[in-house]
Amino acid sequence: ELLCCDGQGCKRCFHLSCLDPPLTYAPTGFWHCIWCVKKKIEFGVHSVSEGIESILDARDVVSDHEVMQRQKQYLVKYKGLAHVHNCWIPERQLVLETPMLVARYKKFQTIRWKTEWTVPQRLLQKRLLSFPKDCDGYVHGHDDNDSDCHYEWLVKWTGLNYDHATWELENASFFRTPEALNLIRDHESRHKKAERVGGKGTFTELSESGL
Ligand SMILES: [Zn+2]
Ligand SMILES: [Zn+2]
Repeated sequence: ELLCCDGQGCKRCFHLSCLDPPLTYAPTGFWHCIWCVKKKIEFGVHSVSEGIESILDARDVVSDHEVMQRQKQYLVKYKGLAHVHNCWIPERQLVLETPMLVARYKKFQTIRWKTEWTVPQRLLQKRLLSFPKDCDGYVHGHDDNDSDCHYEWLVKWTGLNYDHATWELENASFFRTPEALNLIRDHESRHKKAERVGGKGTFTELSESGL
């Protein structure tokens, strides 16, 4: 079975068994290969998105440098990224990028987002990141520990179903809230329990954690 990367301009496909660590089944939702995860760490999550998906909201802000100048901004959702990565983009910039979406938003003016969509509700899986040694760039060829990011979490977001679960880097700021730290502790203690049980359960738990 082939698993294809959803990263922008990537198109790499992998046999599940050839991945490091190998997978027993294809993960749900958007999946990024290790090269795209590397790109994500280096250039930010938006670098792996195929672009703007939709406009969810609009607001007027008073600009700092232009006195009394009101600026219109739009809240933008990106393809393949969770709502936590939505951005407010100035109208001037957005009409150049996606005039159709701006025109469409102006016509219907529907606000379509909730703050809770940016709050992790459950951590479904942990994916260890093992960067290929021959990769140049972020990993300098000595040790994977050069990176301050060693794994990703598959996050189920509050108020959204499992189809909207996304892989998020462990060093993301939203993992530092007390609520998120509780979710991490929860997951780790369940994981340890599964290891203690041993036998077949351990194998399942370990292979799942490699996703
Ligand atoms: Zn293969
Ligand atoms: Zn990729």
